[in-house]
Amino acid sequence: MTLTLTRPDLIRSGNFINGQWQNSKKNEQYPVSNPANGLVFAQAANSTADDAKLAIEAAYVAFEDWRNLPAKARSQCLIRWHKLILDNSEDLARIMSFEQGKPLAEARGEVAYGASYVDWFASEALRTYGDIIPEAVQGKKLMVVKEPVGVVAAITPWNFPLAMIARKIAPALAAGCTVVAKPAEDTPLTALALVVLAEEAGIPAGVLNIITSSRDRVSDVVGVWLTDSRVRKITFTGSTAVGKILARESASTLKHLSLELGGNAPFIVFEDADLDAAVEGLMAAKFRNGGQTCVCPNRIYVHDSVYDAFADKLTERVSSLKVGPWDRDDSQIGPMINDRAIDKIQQHVQDALQHGAKLLTGGERIQNAIATGPNYFAPTVLIDANHNMQLAHDETFGPVAPLFRFRSEQEVIEAANNTPFGLAGYFYSNDIKRVWRVSNKMQTGIVGINEGAIASETAPFGGVKESGYGREGSRYGLDDYMDTKYLCQGNL
Ligand code: NAD
Repeated sequence: MTLTLTRPDLIRSGNFINGQWQNSKKNEQYPVSNPANGLVFAQAANSTADDAKLAIEAAYVAFEDWRNLPAKARSQCLIRWHKLILDNSEDLARIMSFEQGKPLAEARGEVAYGASYVDWFASEALRTYGDIIPEAVQGKKLMVVKEPVGVVAAITPWNFPLAMIARKIAPALAAGCTVVAKPAEDTPLTALALVVLAEEAGIPAGVLNIITSSRDRVSDVVGVWLTDSRVRKITFTGSTAVGKILARESASTLKHLSLELGGNAPFIVFEDADLDAAVEGLMAAKFRNGGQTCVCPNRIYVHDSVYDAFADKLTERVSSLKVGPWDRDDSQIGPMINDRAIDKIQQHVQDALQHGAKLLTGGERIQNAIATGPNYFAPTVLIDANHNMQLAHDETFGPVAPLFRFRSEQEVIEAANNTPFGLAGYFYSNDIKRVWRVSNKMQTGIVGINEGAIASETAPFGGVKESGYGREGSRYGLDDYMDTKYLCQGNL
């Protein structure tokens, strides 16, 4: 398995600070490996707090000029960046597949999806409108203007190495903010390649800075950003546990926070649903990215009267999924990101079986002539799942579909909402009254109604409860990077 690129210069091993590629101050690196075979194939800068400080300094100095550029000029930078991402999409997809493991077709899809945020916010940059408020007292003019919040720190996970960082950087730059970014330690290279293209697009020095670090350095590096008062916003996608640390530790300087955290998505199949459509929706929502997606259904509730029929149809589809490395055209599920991830999946399946679940397909690691590495897990369907199982409470983050049985709408709504999380929820029904009733009752930031593919750059993505706050994409996504300033003008 080799990584061949049209532009090998997209692979970087340093930090990018103030327009310069540079080694970490300590001149240290950490290894990046390929999840398909566990082999180290690149190095990335192992930064420290000193590098994190340099990045803030650069972003802080660059902020004044960047925010004062006409919106059209900022938009044009994003338009050029978008074009370069599309022009280099095959290389970006290959780098992503190599470090993250996802099949190439999915990586290509992610490049297009991530690029769509850059395109969207290039346009939204032109629409940061304020308001004129009708005067309450004669002679006073009341106006509202939108201003960029300032330096933004962006911290992203490994599951979508391009889309997650693009959908933070693009709105920040569109709003007139400058950025310091840290991608996940497992997947730094896609983000670094994206920054190579941002530099080529003419985004000025200091406006976009990126540093990398190994997992054991991450608290030191991000810790600097959390406590420095020049950083005005933290935008984070990752686990709820880390999100809570960031909320706590940034409190001393009261920063804006956008937290896109973990989910525990319910997927409900009512008795009046189109079962074939529900199976297809579940396949798209559950098995994309090998089930390593925060909006993946984690608990699939199926009405008693259609339970067996749905389980049969689903099992037929799931057992035909092809598991293999990114570079095979027929691979649909790649390796899991690392051994910690696969241990958790295995643990959830074992626990479910001990608590009464039955296995219809999958349920174990795969190692064969095609899936040769240690991190492959067979796509799995479990029936007779119940709420005593770990997988009912904790995201499995893998290709495991547990089916719970329900008998009434009220019962299933209570069960679906009985979680601290509230990112996405899905249901399938052909009864229009039920559609409105259930949509209203779902305690999630996103509801898929007879639809499994919900993400779009034009729509607000984000959660409620312990899935976090803030929205990405759409006009709401730009608002999160702006302060509202009220101007009150008396008689001149
Ligand atoms: P993670 O929280 O462990 O890591 C995310 C990022 O935080 C990484 O860059 C990591 O280096 C950094 N980080 C880790 N510990 C930190 C610390 N103590 N201080 C500061 N930064 C720290 O999550 P992960 O394992 O990379 O990703 C999986 C999780 O992310 C899942 O729970 C998933 O649901 C969630 N996720 C959410 C969304 C969403 O949009 N809501 C999208 C993707 C993933």
